[in-house]
Amino acid sequence: MSGGKTPREPYAMAEGLRRILCISAHPDDNEFTIAGSVARWAREGREVAFCLVTSGAAGTNEHTPSNDGLAPIRERESREAAGILGVREAIFLGYQDGVVEPTLGLRRDLTRVIRRFRPDVVVSGDPTVRWYGNEYLNHPDHRAVASAALDAVFPSAETRVIFPELLAEGLEPHKVKEVLISGAVPPDIWVDIGDTLPVKCAALRAHVSQVGPGEWVEGMLQGWAAETGARAGIKFAEAYRRMVLQRGT
Ligand SMILES: [Zn+2]
Repeated sequence: MSGGKTPREPYAMAEGLRRILCISAHPDDNEFTIAGSVARWAREGREVAFCLVTSGAAGTNEHTPSNDGLAPIRERESREAAGILGVREAIFLGYQDGVVEPTLGLRRDLTRVIRRFRPDVVVSGDPTVRWYGNEYLNHPDHRAVASAALDAVFPSAETRVIFPELLAEGLEPHKVKEVLISGAVPPDIWVDIGDTLPVKCAALRAHVSQVGPGEWVEGMLQGWAAETGARAGIKFAEAYRRMVLQRGT
């Protein structure tokens, strides 16, 4: 068996793609998945923003019946993690954690964020994946947010007659040029995160309410990055499916 290893050129984002919006469900999703790439893109001088649909109030079972007190803590941790990664802005939409659905309302809210921030690239999850391997059922919030995010990118953000109320807010249509889908099965590009893996670990450790002392963070993230990279002949990588919606950048 060859193990399916095919050496690949790591993905290098085109110079002209300057603004990147990362849309995810929970405050720490980016730090578990795409943060090595994010830190790399920020170091390359690109403007990166996070849009977090919930504030993660269901991130513990210790507080009952309401976890509202956890939301501000998680927002603060997210801002700290974003700062470590070189991300200037974290936008919270305030949806209830654990029960997100891909509604028209969510699509409108994400379209609003896209038309405001006007990204060249949107990074989101894969709404089609129900499970990974044999031990993780993909969280329904992840699927719902990814589904609404892709629908917001196309056709909603770029089409004038969809959500006319956004025009009334002064938000003109915007065409996203590229979409990178994290957690896609199978991926088709790999980002070399060898230089930024330590920053990714530091950012995840900022989520103290979730990872505690976090002594396991380095080992776990390094293991994932090595496993992902092995499929492309890169030491440490994060992988995506790349959709090019507008060529020539
Ligand atoms: Zn999550």
